[in-house]
Amino acid sequence: MHIVWFRDDLRLDDNPALVSACAGAEPVLAFYIYDDSAPRPLGAASKWWLHHALVDLRAQLREKGGELVVRKGDPLAIIPELAESTITVFANQRYDAHGREVDASILEALAARGGSFVLHHGSLLHAPESVLNKSGEPFQVFTPFKNAVFSLPKRDAVAIPNHAFVSHEDVGSIESLNLLPSIPWDQGFKDAWPNPTEQGAQERLATFLKHAVAEYKEGRDFPGRPLTSRLSPYLRFGQISAIRIWHTVERYAREHGAASAGASHFLSEVCWREFSYHLLARNPDIATTPLKEAFARFPWKKDNARLDAWTKGKTGVPIVDAGMRELWHTGYMHNRVRMIVASYLVKNLGIPWQEGEDWFWDTLVDADSANNAASWQWVAGCGMDAAPFFRVFNPVLQAAKFDSEGTYIKTWVPELAKIEAPALFAPWEAGPIELEAGGVRLGETYPYPLVDLKESREWALKAFEEIKK
Ligand code: FAD
Repeated sequence: MHIVWFRDDLRLDDNPALVSACAGAEPVLAFYIYDDSAPRPLGAASKWWLHHALVDLRAQLREKGGELVVRKGDPLAIIPELAESTITVFANQRYDAHGREVDASILEALAARGGSFVLHHGSLLHAPESVLNKSGEPFQVFTPFKNAVFSLPKRDAVAIPNHAFVSHEDVGSIESLNLLPSIPWDQGFKDAWPNPTEQGAQERLATFLKHAVAEYKEGRDFPGRPLTSRLSPYLRFGQISAIRIWHTVERYAREHGAASAGASHFLSEVCWREFSYHLLARNPDIATTPLKEAFARFPWKKDNARLDAWTKGKTGVPIVDAGMRELWHTGYMHNRVRMIVASYLVKNLGIPWQEGEDWFWDTLVDADSANNAASWQWVAGCGMDAAPFFRVFNPVLQAAKFDSEGTYIKTWVPELAKIEAPALFAPWEAGPIELEAGGVRLGETYPYPLVDLKESREWALKAFEEIKK
């Protein structure tokens, strides 16, 4: 028998492991294991998404006469148990340290029983070891990496195999994995993500190409305008593959020449994902250890009260609070705002970037061991090809530039809805008449800012100068 072991690739379309499992005449059984032995358990928002993705995958397999068998526990205990007879297990490669360790042990355990474990690169555009510079080394800088990715030939996307899937006497219940919250806090998620399925991913890509890609290059930075794809959670859980996206977008750009600048910019963002994964493959501790060693000496401030205010969207800086509340309600935050809130946490509050990474890990539906860690390191200035530390985002200027009419802020911080720009971006600078007219009482209906933006910025720059010595 062949087993296809689904992990971060919860789709039937363009799934190399699935196609390879279905290549012969052997019956194929589909498996998912919720690994609660992982050193870093999934965050609550990711679990919510995972539940729906599994329900969808099971329904799709049932339509094909098969099943998705689900189990909870240590794959090292579960997979070899299946190998009573000689089996071959097919899966797509993972790139995080724990996933790789488990896979290495599974390989050994199956081989010892006469079975085998076949791994494919189904989640990325290219295997990490295949994108190298002229000296045969991994790229340290994004732009040449991206240029290399654009120029390398890509594998073709593979269609859903037409194959006989089999069932199992004990299919396991998805509900028993306890992925959904016991207190129903997820209404905002349901509203923001009505279709967290493989078909939902395909539809989102089609909608993005039809309505947004032409304006993507200029529009992607404005959180009040829905011009990005919002494909990130689908990519995170592999409900659509990067290769499928790549070919579909390229074809669209060829057919609609006018959209090609937006399309190519969009693909370069997909390359950031690729860059992050290639970094993760070489730096297993990327979520905890700064890639630039000097940052281990940074005099971070441990401040639970301020961290708490940041997580709750109560910092007194409207664009930061809007972002943190969007995150809490929907499990998502616009990329521009992710950069602003991250810069504020690290460079104004002086709180370690790892604390922010951890909060995002728990609350983002797209929380991703590569993208999240690499992006936090990028903002903090300690990552590969990172934003220079001395470039501190000014959240007031950022809001004025990218949310000039305050659409985004007013959506997520409704207590400021009656205040107009520019006071909306920095209410502590507004006059008493303006505040009163807007129904705002600082310290009561909306907080005073936690820190002075200028002073905190100067502190950060000074601390940075120290660690450079
Ligand atoms: P689009 O603009 O439509 O981009 C398409 C795809 O390209 C995205 O779905 C994503 O897979 C990839 N992508 C886009 N921008 C980036 C980027 N800067 N870095 C890496 N990949 C990118 N992205 C995650 O998928 N998971 C995370 O956990 C995550 N954490 C982040 C934390 C911080 C502090 C920051 C600054 C960024 C983080 N990002 C993360 C990157 C980015 O914000 C999201 O990928 C993007 O906002 C998702 O929205 P979208 O799908 O509409 O993006």
